[in-house]
Amino acid sequence: MKEYVFKVVVLGDGNVGKTSLVLQYTEKKFSSSYVMTIGSNFAVKILSLPERGLKIKFQLWDLAGQPHFQFIRPPFYRGALLAILVFDITNRKSYDNIQLWVRETKNNVGDIPMILAGNKNDLIDQRVIPKSEGEALAAELNSRYFETSAKTGENLDEMMMH
Ligand code: GDP
Repeated sequence: MKEYVFKVVVLGDGNVGKTSLVLQYTEKKFSSSYVMTIGSNFAVKILSLPERGLKIKFQLWDLAGQPHFQFIRPPFYRGALLAILVFDITNRKSYDNIQLWVRETKNNVGDIPMILAGNKNDLIDQRVIPKSEGEALAAELNSRYFETSAKTGENLDEMMMH
């Protein structure tokens, strides 16, 4: 079986659910208490696809989104093959700031594939970003758009497998 290591950086403003998405994807767990990420979290998920003779080791790096951690972020981008840009569908500022995350990614690793995730899809009654806006931004970034929930796990496997 061929084994690949695939480094993924999970980016976006603080509080959008980056740590929660990684935790849900790797351990099927969700916690509603908020613990701020200091620097970075790191998790691994091994995906075996025996029918394709493949084993993929996802290294997921979730970087602290707060601006004051900006100076320690560049090394974490090194070698990243994919960026997952996360915003919160109930928070317009986190959507607007995706542009800043795109710029920071390009400055650090150049043009790598990106996926846009509109998270907290379970809080549908508090939604302020319609699906069409998520899709429009994804199109602009040449990426796919997924609406996810770190709470229910909705769309997470689809996003990572696509
Ligand atoms: P990060 O700063 O981007 O890593 O965000 P966290 O993963 O720490 O999540 C911030 C807060 O939002 C926490 O209280 C989480 O429980 C909550 N949260 C994260 N994802 C979701 C989600 O999909 N749905 C709901 N309802 N809450 C979420």
